[in-house]
Amino acid sequence: MHYIYCPQCGKRLINKIAGDDGFVPFCERCNKYWFDSFSSCSIVLVANQYNEIALLRQLYMSDKFTSFVSGYITPGENAEETAVREVKEELGIDIDRIEYAGTYWFDSKEILMHGFIGFTTKCDFKLSSEVDSAEWVPALKAPETMFPDRPGNTMYPIYRKYLKIVGLSK
Ligand SMILES: [Zn+2]
Repeated sequence: MHYIYCPQCGKRLINKIAGDDGFVPFCERCNKYWFDSFSSCSIVLVANQYNEIALLRQLYMSDKFTSFVSGYITPGENAEETAVREVKEELGIDIDRIEYAGTYWFDSKEILMHGFIGFTTKCDFKLSSEVDSAEWVPALKAPETMFPDRPGNTMYPIYRKYLKIVGLSK
């Protein structure tokens, strides 16, 4: 988001040079630069010891098992904590080990996605009300129902990293 008015006092911002960053919106009343802002999310591929991955079905988006766990990073949290918390909230399970899988820019919603692979021991899900259902799916079969592989879908680079780590890449 590009600021035009000061989010603190409402005054119209001017453009002011901020070192190497060039012109940046600036509030003369608050004496503060307002750099363009965006949201941050963590997205987690959850995998078990049988090379199965957790796919979520959220009926407001699709009737298929399309998605990984994801959620917004809240102030005070780091991306790893968000990943572990969201898996617990949405699937009701604990992650034994987490691996970072890179960051991805999700342009249509202006979100920086922090990718993770979370390893766990297979168990039943205790779903949150946000998730209509979830399933353990053999990793190589997951793309049959996942949202299509296209630019902007951050699931696939994480998925390909996972296949590499567990030795399932062709
Ligand atoms: Zn201001």
